[in-house]
Amino acid sequence: MKDLVEAMESEDATGADLAALPVPEHYRGAVLRAEEQEMFEGVALRDRTPADSVHIQDVPTPEPGAGEVLVAVMAGAVNYNTVWSALFSPVPTFSFLERYARTGGLAARHDQPYHVIGSDLAGVVLRTGPGVRRWQPGDRVVAHCLSVELESSDGHNDSMLDPEQRIWGFETNYGGLAELALVKANQLMPKAEHLSWEEAASPGLVNSTAYRQLVTRNGAGMKQGDNVLIWGAAGGLGSYATQLALAGGATPVCVVSSPQKAAICRAMGAELIIDRSEEGYRFWKDEHTQDPREWRRLGSRIRELTGGEDPDIVFEHPGRETFGASVYVARRGGTVVTCASTSGHIHEYDNRYLWMSLKRIVGSHFANYREAWEANRLIAKGRIHPTLSRSYPLDQVGLAVQSMHRNEHHGKIGVLCLAPEPGLGVRDPGLRVVHHRALNRFRTETPTPTGDERI
Ligand code: NAP
Repeated sequence: MKDLVEAMESEDATGADLAALPVPEHYRGAVLRAEEQEMFEGVALRDRTPADSVHIQDVPTPEPGAGEVLVAVMAGAVNYNTVWSALFSPVPTFSFLERYARTGGLAARHDQPYHVIGSDLAGVVLRTGPGVRRWQPGDRVVAHCLSVELESSDGHNDSMLDPEQRIWGFETNYGGLAELALVKANQLMPKAEHLSWEEAASPGLVNSTAYRQLVTRNGAGMKQGDNVLIWGAAGGLGSYATQLALAGGATPVCVVSSPQKAAICRAMGAELIIDRSEEGYRFWKDEHTQDPREWRRLGSRIRELTGGEDPDIVFEHPGRETFGASVYVARRGGTVVTCASTSGHIHEYDNRYLWMSLKRIVGSHFANYREAWEANRLIAKGRIHPTLSRSYPLDQVGLAVQSMHRNEHHGKIGVLCLAPEPGLGVRDPGLRVVHHRALNRFRTETPTPTGDERI
């Protein structure tokens, strides 16, 4: 691996040089083990410990098939799907791999006793499979996580509607929290060259998801002047939703749970902020009963901040705990757009507030090819910025996932895979200088990688 890393970091090395280097037969990756998929049975979700279920292990390097690409991963990122995977909840991901493998052909390789997880990467193309022409060894890339077959016409207008749609590194194997990764060529996009490897790896999944959910007509179709209530505005999705709202001429109303997170939202340019911990909202009186007075209290607070207006859009993902409030506070004719249910997927809301006030609930999931490309373009142009707070070495992925599970993080968490230290990979220092402050808004501590043994 060391030769590969040197070649990738060298300004002089060509794609041909890289193509001439041998590909290692094994590589190190963050894996879950099939034999451990029942290890947390009977343990409450909040008490499960990803540091125990995520292992760093050698796995055999897959040969890229037709339309596939093997990428040397310089950095990856932790996503909430990494948390679900590591908790084996709601179901162990091995069931996804088995189902995918049953579709046959190249998919059969994905059913293994290990699952290499991770749905983001920034790196360098190492080998291309038959039929790949757009990408060559040496290309510096990021990968989005949409894996589709496109053999059915259902997905031809919107690739998210493909019946064989999967999230790479969650519902497929050979993900991005590893030294190498296998992707379909259509997942690749150019790396933003003013960013380091770990910065470039961090926005992909959440930025694309927030882009579809909030901006495009497949989601809420946000327009100038809209008020957008954003739950978890300093978290993964929320930190991009906040930037997209500001960049699109809308007004974010950011909900967070600490003064530090409120300060981060202000640094992004948001002015209307609600600290849900400080204001102590309790939408549920007990496990079964919601408290509409608390919905009204939140609605009044939003009106106080906006000068009497209700949210045109509510950007939902906490799910059960907040959904009743979200439906209540959306304006007459407004949209609640949801892509997740972190606190529970059985939602309850008072339907009178939906139909009588002509509101809509829209479901959204990741982003189609085009949306992912457009979201990446905003990153490359420096219109939207990575929200990386901290990077961990590959050895410590389990701890990184645990910190997201405990909601201790801000923005995104990066992982150094082949990159020997943070800060490498920048080829456009000029653009970086312009955006220096924005790039550091989320930073907390960057631990020093453990050293040479990783490469
Ligand atoms: P994240 O980085 O953990 O951010 C989520 C934020 O939501 C947290 O920082 C927290 O912010 C807030 N939050 C958590 N529980 C809450 C609750 N009970 N009430 C109110 N706010 C709460 O995670 P993420 O990456 O943004 O992902 C969020 C969810 O979306 C996850 O379930 C993930 O699996 C899902 N997701 C789905 C897709 C998709 O394509 N469908 C894509 C990405 C993510 P505060 O504590 O500051 O309020």
